[in-house]
Amino acid sequence: MKLSIKQISLGPLETNAVLILDEENKQAIVVDPSFNPEPLATWAENEGIEIVQIWITHGHADHTAGVPALMRALPQPADLLMSAEAYAMVQKQGTEFFGFPLEPFPKPTRFIQHGEKLGFGENAEIAEARFAPGHAPGSVVYYLADAGVAIVGDVIFRAGIGRWDFEGGNFRVLTQSIQEQVFTLPDETILLPGHGPNTTVGWEKKHNPYLS
Ligand SMILES: [Zn+2]
Repeated sequence: MKLSIKQISLGPLETNAVLILDEENKQAIVVDPSFNPEPLATWAENEGIEIVQIWITHGHADHTAGVPALMRALPQPADLLMSAEAYAMVQKQGTEFFGFPLEPFPKPTRFIQHGEKLGFGENAEIAEARFAPGHAPGSVVYYLADAGVAIVGDVIFRAGIGRWDFEGGNFRVLTQSIQEQVFTLPDETILLPGHGPNTTVGWEKKHNPYLS
């Protein structure tokens, strides 16, 4: 099954939402709908694409705040998948984030486990969930082996790593997560971070100043 992967920058913190699209069956997964995801739902409707699942990399509001609005905008319900720790963090965050009001967050369809294979329809096993804590508890890296892509949230950026000074963050845990869950992927794997430009495992192994 040929999947295409698209990135869309959404919201005031320019969070990269990712769309995993099966063009043949006209189904898609949205990863991290950020703030103001309505254009995504409109686009899907215009293209005749059904958004069947929503995946979350971690519980910070700039990645999750748009989930209620996206769900409301979809003509049929989508499954919501995230780690139990990410859900706990969303609930703790309360009703405001950097001055932006947050809507009540829906209960996930189910919680993701480390090592679990995820997908939909004919693509039942397109991604492997790899837990990579240190930026946020229960951060998940979604590795799509066939596509040669990993959706890494705020675990690693081009020449950077996620902040470790938020609640539940830890520098040592974060760098260990990157070594064990990201740098064990093939060097040519394209990393899609939650903010900023894409990179590769090989480039970061050579150039990332936090990991040499
Ligand atoms: Zn974050």
